[in-house]
Amino acid sequence: MNIGIFGGTFNPVHFGHLRIAEEARQSADLGRIIFIPSGNPPLKTDDIAAARHRLAMTRLAVRGNPFFEVLDIECRSRHKSYTVHTLHKLRKLYPHDRLFFMLGIDAFLDIPDWYRPDMLVRHTDFLILSRPGCRFADLSASPYLSTKKSVLRRLDAKVLALQTMPCDGKNSVTLLNVTPVTISATDIRTLAAQGKSIKYLLPAEVESYIIFENLYGYGKRRHRAIMRGCR
Ligand code: ATP
Repeated sequence: MNIGIFGGTFNPVHFGHLRIAEEARQSADLGRIIFIPSGNPPLKTDDIAAARHRLAMTRLAVRGNPFFEVLDIECRSRHKSYTVHTLHKLRKLYPHDRLFFMLGIDAFLDIPDWYRPDMLVRHTDFLILSRPGCRFADLSASPYLSTKKSVLRRLDAKVLALQTMPCDGKNSVTLLNVTPVTISATDIRTLAAQGKSIKYLLPAEVESYIIFENLYGYGKRRHRAIMRGCR
């Protein structure tokens, strides 16, 4: 089976993540998608909710989709979360399946800053998804892709929906256009910190969790904002 491995901080998980995962599942013929919230992300340190909260929110978010599941391998560890190690463990867990590491264009461009990037790109297939604010043409700056510029342009113009190419011998990279969803976790945290509504940017169960646990300053400020509106 083809399995999509969707790693992220998920701080918090939102409809952008869920929608692109669902589209990737169908377009790239993935039998299931495994969401892996990072435990202790080496590159993201600002305003990060505890791993147990991000894990709980991701579990709430995927409920009801039989093709989605959440794995806690990174959240269970107290060490820094390095994708290359995670993929190594996953390959042992799923020896008969083909794993596709899924990420947005922005995240793929960051790979040179990750731990052991050369090893990472040598050992997995990639599924790179479009994201508002990024262009496939930006990928020509990546040291790990040698896609023709004309192909990247056709993807950006949406003339091409999907393009698969070899990467480092036996692996492949698939570039996939998905519906643009201009939601980011950063924007959600900013709204939350200002006590502004985050409704309809993420599943209602995740919003309730954020309020209940008072994450990102949302619970208290939102309550005060609502009370002011009532006076
Ligand atoms: P932050 O704003 O805190 O950086 P984020 O919204 O980018 O967070 P992450 O958890 O860092 O979310 O993202 C996990 C993966 O999902 C990354 O590969 C990222 O590129 C991708 N991604 C997140 N949001 C979107 C979106 N709206 N459209 C396409 N890809 C997305």
